[in-house]
Amino acid sequence: MELIFLGTSAGAPTKSRNVSALAIKKADSKAWYLIDCGEGTQHQLLHTSLALGHLRAVFITHIHGDHCYGLVGLLATASMAGRRAPLDIIAPVAIQHLIEQIQSFTELHLSFEVRFHSVEQGADFNDRDFQVKSVPLSHRVPSFAYQFEEKVQQQKLDIAKLKAEGIPQGEIWGQLQQQRRVTLSDGLILTAADYLLSPRAPRTVIIAGDNDSPDVLKTAANKAQVLVHEATYTRAAEEKAGGNLYGHSTAERVALFAEQVALANVILTHFSPRYRHNPSQNGLSIEEIRQEAQQYYQGRLFLAEDFAHYHLNTEGVLSLKSPE
Ligand SMILES: [Zn+2]
Repeated sequence: MELIFLGTSAGAPTKSRNVSALAIKKADSKAWYLIDCGEGTQHQLLHTSLALGHLRAVFITHIHGDHCYGLVGLLATASMAGRRAPLDIIAPVAIQHLIEQIQSFTELHLSFEVRFHSVEQGADFNDRDFQVKSVPLSHRVPSFAYQFEEKVQQQKLDIAKLKAEGIPQGEIWGQLQQQRRVTLSDGLILTAADYLLSPRAPRTVIIAGDNDSPDVLKTAANKAQVLVHEATYTRAAEEKAGGNLYGHSTAERVALFAEQVALANVILTHFSPRYRHNPSQNGLSIEEIRQEAQQYYQGRLFLAEDFAHYHLNTEGVLSLKSPE
């Protein structure tokens, strides 16, 4: 599974970070899925190999502008390119109203059907690559996490066993693969389940929207290999500023949660624009977020950058592949 970050800043863009957007896809597929679509997301896409024509569905975590103001422009561009395939949008119902209003005010007629699914009603999404469920979070407005569970490929034949038992390759193997019972010429009956390797457990990635209570993800996190979560501030900086998190999490809060539920991999994102790579004197450094999280979390920790491309292997180990 691949994760490609398109925007990693909270609230407003900076010179090096755009507002929230993230693409997820299976490694062997061109199809991809977009989670959040802050303003300018379509510009970010131009720097990647992701094609709008292969976008299968859009998931919006909540209605704040830094997570959705780019959606109408992206739809309009897909339409200008002549897209025909329907597009599923899983989002708070207000997003449907927003898009329909803008379409009406600006006479935007799309070349394809948009199928809205209201996440407030617990919309489940299911296609060839993923099964996606939503989890309600805690923020100033209703906010959701999306839990992407991959569909595991068809079961594979236990070739070593077939060979060891002298079962000839060909039609019989094909029937076993199709989970049929096979009667051999000598009357012996082969049961497909005896010759199929059990499929590996599907991998699950949780992509959370803005959230001040990581604990609400406890149940979902039990089966996940990766959590993508905002860490808008450090606790240290927030205490200085009066302690109001405006419904967001600190690096400490996410790290404590991830450690408690023994998550293997955590990617922090959605950083306040105050945290810089090269801070001016007295400015805040992005490394403070990393250091605070590392104090409480022993697993594999990553701080997302725009265009960072992560690969999750079949063993559930996440690594930074390269910038896109
Ligand atoms: Zn936000």
